[in-house]
Amino acid sequence: MTGQRIGVYGGTFDPVHIGHLAIAEEVRYALRLDQVIFVPAARQPLKGVAPGASPTQRLEMVRLACAANPAFAVSDLELRRPPPSYTRDTLVGLRNHLPPFSHLTLIMGADAARDLPRWHRVHEILRLAQLAVVARPDHPCDLADLESRLPGVRLRTTLIDGPRLTVSSTDLRLRLASGRPTRYQIPDAVLAYIAHHGLYL
Ligand code: ATP
Ligand code: MG
Repeated sequence: MTGQRIGVYGGTFDPVHIGHLAIAEEVRYALRLDQVIFVPAARQPLKGVAPGASPTQRLEMVRLACAANPAFAVSDLELRRPPPSYTRDTLVGLRNHLPPFSHLTLIMGADAARDLPRWHRVHEILRLAQLAVVARPDHPCDLADLESRLPGVRLRTTLIDGPRLTVSSTDLRLRLASGRPTRYQIPDAVLAYIAHHGLYL
């Protein structure tokens, strides 16, 4: 039996947008993953003071966004644990629920990758999963610089040159708050959910 190839895609997803979906699909294709599991994070204390959505609402929006793709799944693992959620613990937790010999790839944008050396037990993360780092506009990925700060990372990393979409949740929250358009940047079902719950106003 060969192991399943699983992508693990963490983020705040406040709200989820087409950039998230497009890069997950790109990595799935490039690395021939069987499944990509989106893992919404509990709110990071250092991230943002804007009125965002609740953890449950962020989870629900990711579920709506992923519903139409049979290769996408959503895990509430990080929302069921008290914060902070450490990616190392998430990978261990997911592995316990996956078939043995599953092969994990942690998916992140280049902006997130730059902070990797500061992540909790990052060397364990590199043993538990390979990395797929996706180019993001204005955030080139300097793998040589990262390797100098986190030796060993280069051998565990695949750079993915996906569609470079400038869309970000920060910009979308501002747009929603000021009534500017967000259609075609957020899936329709998620937009309907945002409107129904009056989020980000
Ligand atoms: P915020 O502006 O609130 O930080 P965000 O758009 O960066 O939101 P996150 O939930 O922080 O979304 O992102 C989760 C992961 O997806 C991170 O690894 C981030 O680098 C990556 N990501 C988000 N948007 C893009 C994008 N347009 N292109 C490439 N990677 C992205
Ligand atoms: Mg971000």
